[in-house]
Amino acid sequence: MVVIGGGQAGAETVLALRAAGYEDPVTLVCAEPELPYRRPPLSKGFLDHSEVSDELPVRARAVYDAQRIGLRLGARVVSIDRPGRLVGLDDGDELSYDWLVLATGAEPRRLPMEGAEASGVHVLRSIHDADALRGALDKAQSVVVVGGGFIGLEVAVSARKRGAAVAVLEMAPRLMGRAVSAELSDYALGFHREMGTQIRLGDSLASIETSGGILCGVTTAAGTALPADVLVVGVGVRVEDSLAAAAGLAVDDGILVDEFLRTRDPRIFAVGDCARFPTRFAPGSVRLESVQNATGQALHVATAIATGNAEAYDEVPWFWSHQGDLRIQMAGLTTGHDRTLLTGAVEAGRFSVLCFREGVLVGVDSVSDVRSHQSARRLVGSHNPVTYAEASAADFDLKTRALARESR
Ligand SMILES: Cc1cc2nc3c(=O)[nH]c(=O)nc-3n(C[C@H](O)[C@H](O)[C@H](O)COP(=O)(O)OP(=O)(O)OC[C@H]3O[C@@H](n4cnc5c(N)ncnc54)[C@H](O)[C@@H]3O)c2cc1C
Repeated sequence: MVVIGGGQAGAETVLALRAAGYEDPVTLVCAEPELPYRRPPLSKGFLDHSEVSDELPVRARAVYDAQRIGLRLGARVVSIDRPGRLVGLDDGDELSYDWLVLATGAEPRRLPMEGAEASGVHVLRSIHDADALRGALDKAQSVVVVGGGFIGLEVAVSARKRGAAVAVLEMAPRLMGRAVSAELSDYALGFHREMGTQIRLGDSLASIETSGGILCGVTTAAGTALPADVLVVGVGVRVEDSLAAAAGLAVDDGILVDEFLRTRDPRIFAVGDCARFPTRFAPGSVRLESVQNATGQALHVATAIATGNAEAYDEVPWFWSHQGDLRIQMAGLTTGHDRTLLTGAVEAGRFSVLCFREGVLVGVDSVSDVRSHQSARRLVGSHNPVTYAEASAADFDLKTRALARESR
């Protein structure tokens, strides 16, 4: 068994294989030299100095040793020979496999413009990125963040907490627009402005100003000049599917897999950020970037390989983002929703937005509303989900409904 990629998905795959009783040799190969680690703290606790690097690993090295999991860290797989069932490493070594799992993840997108490589310009994906950004934020006076998505807004909070002047440029008309409802975007806008962050919607980066190779400011598309000693580029990722493509596997912004997370080669699976899979929670296929997706898919594939169980992957997509005191949870996939219902109290900062597509509940966004969120998440996963008509009735109660569904 060979797993390529040692992020959350790869690490959870090898650990789950052993937990499911897989006895044959298992090797995880990862280009990063560190023990597999968790990325979410990199834009939260680690950036704030409240979490140290020792807390980041998914598991201690001793756990892999005890489970007889071979770790090839700091090694990149450069080729897959499918007929020969061999992977080639950049140090010239070769590993044979019966089963291969691709967990190659993604890389942060960089800006294709002059100045993008200047000192002071940061992306955030790896522990090295986070270490460099943390040091820069500790000294920064003016921070510009490009991209009002989760990572950009989490970094903005961290910078504001240090007292820096912070501006966020978001090209779209609202924050986190690809992932959350308009109601949640509006609430987040108020929250970040209240924190003193300058949020510039419908604006983007036109140029980066440098002096002697060092960042000194930016000009926005709207023509505003902003001073900057730190520029954080949080504009999404480029999926790492080139290895799969070179091996003749189908890719399309992600490695294409079926409902069992299997590529068109029945010996090769893909999991985590790199996998594009069909799901009943959205039309077409999706590629998701979340810990729950990486962990759930890893567990699913490991169990399928270890036990021969061939069920479709069917977990409700789930994601969280902590932007200081703004605690967001999202379940389901709400893209293309056409109606919403609000529960809870927006003014108290505790509410959920139920999102419906064609009259059916497809997802929920919540702010500090854990109990309602859990109930709604259960309903989103139900094969007989709630309709808009049901949910808008005066006596509708999420928790009662979720329990009723379970007891049927
Ligand atoms: C800063 C940050 C904050 C986040 N916060 C949250 C959050 O709050 N909540 C949440 O749910 N999710 C969050 N996420 C997303 C979540 O961390 C990712 O979805 C998850 O880490 C994906 O794991 P992965 O293993 O699929 O991919 P990755 O973590 O990208 O791991 C892929 C690994 O494969 C290696 N690799 C690639 N190609 C090769 C090769 N050819 N040979 C060997 N190795 C290779 C890479 O070097 C990398 O180590 C966050 C992500 C980031 C970056």
